[in-house]
Amino acid sequence: MSSSLDNPCHNCGICCLTFPLPPFDANELVRAPNELMEQIDDYAHGARYRDTNPCLWLDLGSGKCKHHQVRPVLCRWFVPGCAACNELRNKAGLPNV
Ligand code: SF4
Ligand code: SF4
Repeated sequence: MSSSLDNPCHNCGICCLTFPLPPFDANELVRAPNELMEQIDDYAHGARYRDTNPCLWLDLGSGKCKHHQVRPVLCRWFVPGCAACNELRNKAGLPNV
């Protein structure tokens, strides 16, 4: 996958393997779109839910967040190319971005 000068993210999606659900905090939940919160709730209580699953909102094909515009603050704070990003990539056998 390619990156740009504006956004060095390579869309490997590895940082989105950390959480099985979008990591909203309690304050954010009240601002998130209802239909997406219902989807999360259904999934969290469904048979397919596992702690080890990739995030529900991760598009496995593109490596991108399906709901990028409303992603949690924690995800917004995760800067592509930061130490944690590269540590995760290196553990998966990928080079730094
Ligand atoms: S950026 Fe999107 S897919 Fe990745 S962990 Fe956050 S909510 Fe999930
Ligand atoms: S681990 Fe880094 S390069 Fe990969 S998707 Fe996350 S932010 Fe982008």
